[in-house]
Amino acid sequence: MEKKIVIVGAGVAGINAATKLVDNGYPGELITIIDKGNDPHNRLPEEVMTGMLGAGGWSDGKLTYHTAIGGQLSKYCGEEKAMNLMDQVISNFRRFHPKPEEIFMSDPQEEPEFIKPYFGLRMFPVWHIGSNFLHEIAKTWYQYLLDKGVDFWWNTEVSDIDFTNNVILFNPLGIAGPTDTHQVKYDELIFAVGKSGIDFAQKLADGYKLPNEPKSVQIGVRFEAPQKYFQKLIDVSYDFKLYQKFDNVSLRSFCTNNNAAYVAVEETYGDISYNGHAKKGEEFRNNMTNFGILMEIKGIEDPFKWSRDVVSKLQFNGKGLYYSPSRIVSKTSEGTDVSAYQIEFLDGFKASMGKYADYVINFIDDMNKIFNFGDDWGMYIPEVKYLSPEPLVNYNDLSLTEYTNVHFVGDALSARGITVSGAHGIYVAESLLK
Ligand SMILES: Cc1cc2nc3c(=O)[nH]c(=O)nc-3n(C[C@H](O)[C@H](O)[C@H](O)COP(=O)(O)OP(=O)(O)OC[C@H]3O[C@@H](n4cnc5c(N)ncnc54)[C@H](O)[C@@H]3O)c2cc1C
Repeated sequence: MEKKIVIVGAGVAGINAATKLVDNGYPGELITIIDKGNDPHNRLPEEVMTGMLGAGGWSDGKLTYHTAIGGQLSKYCGEEKAMNLMDQVISNFRRFHPKPEEIFMSDPQEEPEFIKPYFGLRMFPVWHIGSNFLHEIAKTWYQYLLDKGVDFWWNTEVSDIDFTNNVILFNPLGIAGPTDTHQVKYDELIFAVGKSGIDFAQKLADGYKLPNEPKSVQIGVRFEAPQKYFQKLIDVSYDFKLYQKFDNVSLRSFCTNNNAAYVAVEETYGDISYNGHAKKGEEFRNNMTNFGILMEIKGIEDPFKWSRDVVSKLQFNGKGLYYSPSRIVSKTSEGTDVSAYQIEFLDGFKASMGKYADYVINFIDDMNKIFNFGDDWGMYIPEVKYLSPEPLVNYNDLSLTEYTNVHFVGDALSARGITVSGAHGIYVAESLLK
């Protein structure tokens, strides 16, 4: 008997799962996808975190192609299967792309001499989809799933899940806020709420006392400078990953954007932090480069609470902070100022981050020795990756050990990127098809 599958979250993981199912003949009518955001026709460009194709599937489109990047995958299914799953995700983005011939892959091979002795460079292939194609991809992909009979419930927030009785509680979100709570039953549940559902995932994990793996702190800033200074490195690796390693702290540049590079504002737990995205097309060119400078700090007792405390201190008037020795905040791709409060001195940054602020400042100083940008740079504070609690799952189908019809995928499990999140979704779909 075919089962009713409910997918909570129409992000990268949920949509890839549904696609794998219907591609293989699973009746779309038995699949319901619930998302608190908008469908791709009504989703606004600035709705970065919620809606069809989720976070990175709407604002950025760099698909990393390596099992050591983007979170846990090969741990569950082995190296060879992991690569196969990532291939499937990339091929889905290609399949719904309006101009697949414009997708390109960067694949740096050799660490350049000039970054030594200050940095190492992590090298791996990246597929560049182009941010501004993502909206078209989302619409075509959505139509495909609708045509297959998949039922989408937009603007609908899941507020609780009864894992014992297979019941989802949800609120249709009206203009005036949540209306009454409703219920729907499932036979199999794919839980794919991503970063915007992190507090909800935490609530469930606490409520059901799901055992978690310990996580490290991932915090830093989003650095920005004119691209010309970094061009010699971009020529080697478009999405370069510089890194430095110390005893309990390692730093890496993260998610580099070039050519038409914009800083994006994220809101998590009511606090502001920063990220970046790149647009394709000459009309968006601003000749800037931005990337996160992220520290992974080991040995902090409650990394989650520590990160949240630090982030909340780095806020002013409902904004994050911006520091530059010479520049002012940049424009968004919509032509408005990036929302950030400009500070003149770094005292507050140092007081909030403690000794870890120096690691970031030294990283920038070391880059300056190589790239000679002088005072022509700025940083948006903070950038943070709250690693979701990673519940213990059965490796063959990512189901909770105590609730085997509940499958955690994407950022809600252990992913940190598009390819790995999509791969989780496909992996679970394959197990359900069996
Ligand atoms: C600005 C930005 C740029 C990024 N760029 C890249 C990149 O270039 N490359 C890369 O590999 N990764 C990137 N990422 C990370 C990547 O987006 C995520 O790893 C990926 O989207 C996770 O997929 P997911 O399906 O787990 O969650 P998401 O894609 O975030 O989707 C989760 C969905 O669940 C919905 N949801 C959440 N809670 C509820 C609820 N309670 N009820 C109903 N629905 C709910 C949300 O509306 C959302 O649509 C970026 C992230 C951001 C924020």
